[in-house]
Amino acid sequence: MIPYRNEPLTNFALPENKAAMQAALDHVRQQLGRTYPLIIGGEAIATEKTLPSVNPCNHQQVVGIVAQGNREHADAALAAAENAFTSWSRTPMQVRADYLFKLAAIMRRQKAELSAWLTMEVGKNWVEADADVAEAIDFCEYYGRQAIELSHGRTPIPLPGERNSFTYIPLGVGLVISPWNFPLAILLGMTAAAIVAGNTVIIKPANTAAVIGAKVFELIQAADLPAGVVNYLPGSGSDVGEYLVNHPRTRFVNFTGSMAVGLRINQQAAIAQPGQIWIKRVIAEMGGKDCIIVDETADLEAAARGIVQSAFGFQGQKCSACSRAIIVDSVYDQVLERVVELTNQLAVGPAADNYAVGAVIDAAAFAKITSYIKECGEEGRLVAGGEYDDQQGYFIKPTVYADVKPDARLAQEEIFGPVLATIRATDFEHALAIANDTIYGLTGSLYSQKRERIEQAKQEFHVGNLYVNRGCTGALVGVHPFGGFNMSGTDSKAGGPDYVQLFMQAKSISERL
Ligand code: NAP
Ligand code: MG
Repeated sequence: MIPYRNEPLTNFALPENKAAMQAALDHVRQQLGRTYPLIIGGEAIATEKTLPSVNPCNHQQVVGIVAQGNREHADAALAAAENAFTSWSRTPMQVRADYLFKLAAIMRRQKAELSAWLTMEVGKNWVEADADVAEAIDFCEYYGRQAIELSHGRTPIPLPGERNSFTYIPLGVGLVISPWNFPLAILLGMTAAAIVAGNTVIIKPANTAAVIGAKVFELIQAADLPAGVVNYLPGSGSDVGEYLVNHPRTRFVNFTGSMAVGLRINQQAAIAQPGQIWIKRVIAEMGGKDCIIVDETADLEAAARGIVQSAFGFQGQKCSACSRAIIVDSVYDQVLERVVELTNQLAVGPAADNYAVGAVIDAAAFAKITSYIKECGEEGRLVAGGEYDDQQGYFIKPTVYADVKPDARLAQEEIFGPVLATIRATDFEHALAIANDTIYGLTGSLYSQKRERIEQAKQEFHVGNLYVNRGCTGALVGVHPFGGFNMSGTDSKAGGPDYVQLFMQAKSISERL
């Protein structure tokens, strides 16, 4: 087997790559507005209720119309997944891994087209869309290899007179509930790990990205996965999603999304329902209030660039996005000035035209993010952005507030949009204390040239993903296993060496000879 390596990113400066993306966008434009059914046990099912998914950069443009599953569909999906589990759970791990490698190969061939769908449905510019596809490919390649390793099991301590073994077996039927912000990578990554381990799943994509969910299903069909191993069930999260979370026959839930929903799922799944014979396993990766610390010894230009890129890439709609810049007093004004300069250089416009900053995902997100701009104005000094316009698309200018107090709403709540709070710290110790003063603990970054402080941050900066002298977004599968502490989730470390094992249980067998 070829050793794992990350999928290279596309260089859009090359004319042939640019042309390929333009052609893919044209191709996708011709397919807008189609209807996508549920897929249960390999059967396409049209539903009476449907939901349109629109282009956030042009909300009159319907990207697709997606079926909405109800509770009867959920029951049927559970039955189909249970049915498929019998043979899938006994399919050799190597064979299951081969399906993932096939999925990766198909995605490599369809890269530009998949990127174009991401651009249209969630407003990712070309580079962001391409990175989402590359990450999806990486998850398949990485988890496939991890599963093959796990298939060897472990050798227990030998005991004379006995033959003993220790092997990993799958859990059963699981639920994959995904967010809209990495609708390809996260949905497919969460699914790939669960199925390569031998489980069968029902996937419930976020409604604002359900067309990508249907594309994931098309990939699964193209890879010829047996019917019922993956079942596609778009629908209301709080209705059909919660119904499945509560269902006694659901064995595990693999969730990525907001803290509020993750906590709710964790709570609901803990209740043993009548007829339930196991403790449900919940993997929940949730929100963040991530920050970058800059001290007086840092490369200030690199720090300012790192802050702006981490704060405003994909409109700040990443769980890893920098939403607090904590800068020590002696260099605060200088770094802030450069951050404002760089922020003002970011052009806002349609993702399909590859603007640096596109629109935020939907009307609800637009209302939520702009409510901070309207209500929290007195919490800081507005030094960039602050303007917004939703006539055509949900556009919000990258916005920077200066001199925000560490306990202000702007500094404590996950806004999940292009809004950055800069906070003045007296010194490095103070900056570190502010950084840790949050309920979350996902990513964090320190710009410093002082070894002693870097070592201190390694011990005391309490985040699942700590970066030094680089931005706090852009984790690579296998290279930067990803997941957070505290209210950022169960720290499952997606793209890490222990991830696939989360979807398995170990069986210990001892035979007296
Ligand atoms: P969300 O509102 O929590 O939704 C996530 C998923 O949960 C959606 O599919 C949603 O369906 C479903 N859902 C809603 N209520 C439910 C319920 N009661 N029971 C079961 N499922 C339910 O999150 P989002 O807005 O899509 O994504 C943004 C959030 O995800 C941010 O907080 C971000 O930080 C976080 N995130 C975390 C990571 C990480 O790795 N830690 C990665 C990416 C994103 P509907 O679409 O129908 O509401
Ligand atoms: Mg949502």
